[in-house]
Amino acid sequence: MNTPLLIERLFQYAQTYFPRKEIVSRTPDGIFRYTYADFGNRTRRLSSALSRLGVGPGDRVGTFAWNDHRHLEAYFAIPSMGSVLHTINIRLAPDQIAYIVNHAEDKVLLVDAGLVPLLAPIRDKLPTVEAFVILGNQVDPSASPLQPAYSYEALLAEADPEFEYPTDLDENSAMGMCYTSATTGNPKGVAYSHRGIYLHSMSMGLANTVALSDTDVALPVVPMFHANAWGMPFAAIWFGAKLVLPGPTPTPAILLDLMSQEQVTISAGVPTIWLGVLQELEAHPRPLSLRMVLCGGSAAPPALIRAYEERHGIPFAHAYGMTETSPLATFSRLKSYQRDLPYNERLAIRATQGLLVPGLDMRIVKDGEDVAWDGKQMGELLLRGPWIADEYYHDERTTSTFIDGWLHTGDVASIDPEGFVRLVDRTKDLIKSGGEWISSVDLENAIMGHPAVLEAAVVGVTHPKWDERPLAFVVLKPNQKVTKEELREFLTGQFAKWWLPDDILFLEEIPKTSVGKFMKRTLRDQYHDYLISDKGSL
Ligand code: ADP
Repeated sequence: MNTPLLIERLFQYAQTYFPRKEIVSRTPDGIFRYTYADFGNRTRRLSSALSRLGVGPGDRVGTFAWNDHRHLEAYFAIPSMGSVLHTINIRLAPDQIAYIVNHAEDKVLLVDAGLVPLLAPIRDKLPTVEAFVILGNQVDPSASPLQPAYSYEALLAEADPEFEYPTDLDENSAMGMCYTSATTGNPKGVAYSHRGIYLHSMSMGLANTVALSDTDVALPVVPMFHANAWGMPFAAIWFGAKLVLPGPTPTPAILLDLMSQEQVTISAGVPTIWLGVLQELEAHPRPLSLRMVLCGGSAAPPALIRAYEERHGIPFAHAYGMTETSPLATFSRLKSYQRDLPYNERLAIRATQGLLVPGLDMRIVKDGEDVAWDGKQMGELLLRGPWIADEYYHDERTTSTFIDGWLHTGDVASIDPEGFVRLVDRTKDLIKSGGEWISSVDLENAIMGHPAVLEAAVVGVTHPKWDERPLAFVVLKPNQKVTKEELREFLTGQFAKWWLPDDILFLEEIPKTSVGKFMKRTLRDQYHDYLISDKGSL
């Protein structure tokens, strides 16, 4: 019972029991396929190469890469040797990238050849980095603007395929880290322990959650630089699933081609991905084998769930988590006795963020008291458990988020008598109108239920009388038309009158964060005074 829960054990199990299973990786040079056995050989070679570069237990190794087979090798090679896999978000601003590399004190960076130009301008700001390993097929390290540079493939060719991993690491030591954006200030580092990721991976195999198994073909669209691609690479490899990695800049058409050709059964991504994929699927249908579309990171609009299920027969699952929670924290799935409810009632349940994943603890708290499980009262969601972080890495902001052993998520939620959690909003996105709360998420979901609407974001903007009022931004589907008045009419009856947005503006695109969520902060900053300026409809 005291066996340490280490990433090396996941890797070892996959090697022993599933050597013939396949990994498919989309690269700039085309599709690359190999077996788990070959993946294992290259993973050990990578550990050996890193060790020869001076990387040892506890050292941080950064990755700056898309979802592909080399990134996957790093996912297992770095933690298995006792070093720390630091996945760096390639879409952050250069200053933020420099901040997190320095803050984590990365010793070596593994960089996709195509992403070298993003790091070249900040090379001089990265004093802790002793070597850049360039990932790609034809790499000439001497010509790289990042120095000292090495070719990943050349290093692997010379390395030891029998590299031995330590089996006595402390299961509570860090195996990885990821920085999450902060509303203000620099990104905050979250360190993941071996034990936490081991148990999180196991939770992905539960029939009550994702039920990932060797019968699956898994395609994580969610980037491997964002919250471990929701843990999918670790769990998929452990359980022997076929893994399909979509490579650089995957468009909806590329994703659907891969899903169709490789007979993908489960894929994970944020709602904006699934909105885009849906558009493409309706324009150019393809035969699919999906048993589950896993959607999280932002609220999944019920209309989106319905479109996948009713129009395309693709089961859609909604889950919730954060970088701080590894990330799977809640998963929405009907209880056995809810399966015969009418579709609309089932949809309403499944559009919630769902039930707490077994193994975790949760509270919803208002003014220090737990709220009633009545589906109405709202409070802040608090989490704790074996894969919930309990601090930010070397950061004084720890004390305001991790209190008495609980992660304070900054998300406002209610919980119904069955235990289904419904996220009302992020605290900072709630619209405070005349002392009452309006949920921007509820309004967005309803607007995205209109057939002409592709995307919608609602933010609170300053109002002289009510403090804040909702302002809606809408992107229409191509060749669709609808007026503000028609949209307002569409919302009337779904909400109390005082909830309706004061104005609706049509945009070409809603600004998105680095991981594809609506960037409401930008809209808020830009339109802060809209209703008190002469442009507003007030
Ligand atoms: P970032 O803060 O950069 O978005 P995270 O990915 O850690 O980084 O975001 C976590 C947050 O995303 C949660 O606190 C919550 O507000 C939101 N979120 C995640 N999943 C869902 C979901 N299913 N429904 C609504 N909001 C979600």
